Amino acid sequence: YMVSSSPVRDADGKVVAISVAHIDVTEKRANDRKTARLTRQLKELATHDHLTKALNRREFDRLARRAGKGLLKNQQGFSILLVDVDHFKSFNDIYGHQAGDECLKHVANTLRAQLRSAETSLCRYGGEEFAIILNQDSAMVAQQIAGRIVASVAAMAIPHADGIGGVVTASCGVACSSEFGAVLGTRPEEVLLGAADRALYIAKRDGRNCVRS
Ligand code: GH3
Ligand code: MG
Ligand code: MG
Repeated sequence: YMVSSSPVRDADGKVVAISVAHIDVTEKRANDRKTARLTRQLKELATHDHLTKALNRREFDRLARRAGKGLLKNQQGFSILLVDVDHFKSFNDIYGHQAGDECLKHVANTLRAQLRSAETSLCRYGGEEFAIILNQDSAMVAQQIAGRIVASVAAMAIPHADGIGGVVTASCGVACSSEFGAVLGTRPEEVLLGAADRALYIAKRDGRNCVRS
């Protein structure tokens, strides 16, 4: 109940009584809670990928832009990792699309498990490709994390008849702002994304299940 009280005055303005109202706000409270829950759900839907619970592409674009601005303004370096599941089309062909969906969930989970820092975000870039923004620009650290990620996917040992070593694997391209200097220009995030994409292509060409930068 919401309680409100107010004085009741006579013709001379003297307080002769207090009027107290008890208003039943049960329904309003329930509606407020429902609105808060729906707002949370809406935010989750707008920012996350439903299948893998990773951040979605829109969030990735926003975070990458923020990282780019942070570099230009405060010299806060960053790195971008692109991770792509190897031979995933044939995984779907052999085991079916539902098994493919389950596999993507497992891959997202193992990637997330390697990214302990709260400052690191896992995004589903598209299809069977994930993007990670690291808020630091040590090429050595970024490559170590990338190496852990690639190893963790193979270590899940999800059987894949067409996969490398008979299991699902992933390849990773890494790009760190510290390695680009003035070339980064006014949109560093785009330069790094392009570089990570090229590195990923080289990882694929070099046999997959590996990291290139
Ligand atoms: P590569 O090793 O060169 O990356 O080969 P690939 O087969 O993984 O790459 P390709 O781009 O040829 O195929 C990607 C496949 O990923 C095709 C598409 O059906 C599948 N895929 C994309 N998104 C989803 C999804 O949400 N669920 C499932 N099950 N499959 C998906
Ligand atoms: Mg692939
Ligand atoms: Mg791909």
